[in-house]
Amino acid sequence: MISVNNRDFLHVPITDYIIPSEKVAHVQVGNNAEHALLVLTKTGYSAIPVIDSKNHLRGLLGIGMITDSILGLERIEYERLSDLKVDDIMQTDLPTIKTTDKFQKGLDLLINHTFLCVTEEDGTFAGILTRRVMLKEFKKYIYTK
Ligand code: AMP
Repeated sequence: MISVNNRDFLHVPITDYIIPSEKVAHVQVGNNAEHALLVLTKTGYSAIPVIDSKNHLRGLLGIGMITDSILGLERIEYERLSDLKVDDIMQTDLPTIKTTDKFQKGLDLLINHTFLCVTEEDGTFAGILTRRVMLKEFKKYIYTK
């Protein structure tokens, strides 16, 4: 088992590791699934946050959720994409983390998720915390200690 003697890093705030909201690809509540599929395909991301007009986080949308929503009995019904709203197919029970939370919480949650949505106390979307960024930071810490 890896043993890290100094665990101070676990209590470091996550603020420095957040990818800020203005750099995060997202879709808005009310957008249709066709637009969302376009954004996901063009960016190459597996899932992106869904934000409302007040910049509050409302859910998460992935390519799999979109495909699932247009699965017919014998074919994928692409023609339904423009009628479907992201609100109807997004995942709403997502784990979130607050800007004031610490490294340890991020690490714990990122075991099961490639990224986490970060919110302010009032639910405003602040950005995302990715497993890649946290692992990089963890590696840096281990190599320099
Ligand atoms: P990465 O750590 O870059 O491999 O990203 C893992 C996942 O985090 C991606 O597949 C996306 O779902 C999400 N992600 C990372 N960066 C962004 C971004 N700038 N905008 C939206 N989603 C992102």
